[in-house]
Amino acid sequence: MRITIFVFIIILLASCSSTNKESTNDGKPHVVATTGMLYDAVVNIAGDKVAAEAIMGPGVDPHLYKATQGDLAKFNRADLIVYNGILLEGKMSEILKKLGRQKPTIAAAESVPREMLKSAIGYEDAYDPHIWFDVKRWRYAVKAISHALVKLDSANQKYYETNMQTYFSKLDSLDAYVRSRISEIPESQRILVTAHDAFVYFGDAYGIRVEALQGISTVADFGLKDIAEIIDLIIENNIKAIFVETSVSEKSINAVVQGCKEKGHEVKIGGYLYSDAMGELGTEEGTYIGMFRSNVETIVKALK
Ligand code: ZN
Repeated sequence: MRITIFVFIIILLASCSSTNKESTNDGKPHVVATTGMLYDAVVNIAGDKVAAEAIMGPGVDPHLYKATQGDLAKFNRADLIVYNGILLEGKMSEILKKLGRQKPTIAAAESVPREMLKSAIGYEDAYDPHIWFDVKRWRYAVKAISHALVKLDSANQKYYETNMQTYFSKLDSLDAYVRSRISEIPESQRILVTAHDAFVYFGDAYGIRVEALQGISTVADFGLKDIAEIIDLIIENNIKAIFVETSVSEKSINAVVQGCKEKGHEVKIGGYLYSDAMGELGTEEGTYIGMFRSNVETIVKALK
């Protein structure tokens, strides 16, 4: 898996460097986003008015990701840098802070009002950075990106603002879709067990109890005690399925399945959820809306 990711990054870097050459020639502002979700928001608002690129591709864990030499070159070329913030990009925070003193840089998730943020479990004075799995919170990030684009390229202000409104109505439809699909799961079965805590805002917004083995960052390890607690919870609530994530190792979730089996409870893996990274660019799951819908379909199918 690690080798595949590595190879993918190499391909991504190679393909990005060729786009860079084109974009520097055509004079468009250069926008660099850290995660795929942010990149997708930039593309939806800016269309072809900017040359946009993402640092992290599918399957990449933003908590652990360290900037490569190629990434640093991208950041240096950028006219605007968009990152999540709230310490999601834990290993890049120093670099991002430094770049913020040199050029326009926004931490899009930090535009969510403080009262809408949840504390990070196990971390004093820190907030949970995974705001994208509640459409209402994500709208703030999208709006912040739109404002930053207008500031960068005011000649296209109308274009960006119109695109933002169009995208907002798509996001509203997504929000309604999620609510209606989740209501198909019997209330007693609305419990989402995953490897790491990326779905707290999702649970809060859509009425699902969320239980995870690891805290909100994949940096911390999980212990045997966590596994035992989750196993008891699954058996107590007769949960049918638990989920693996595309950017987190399956090891912990497999241990839970095995542990349940030893206690005579059959729990299946309900499928892969996109948590901190999206699917391949060019596929449905390579967009924010497509990724979200895919997750909801996976969850509803397995828990219904
Ligand atoms: Zn995460």
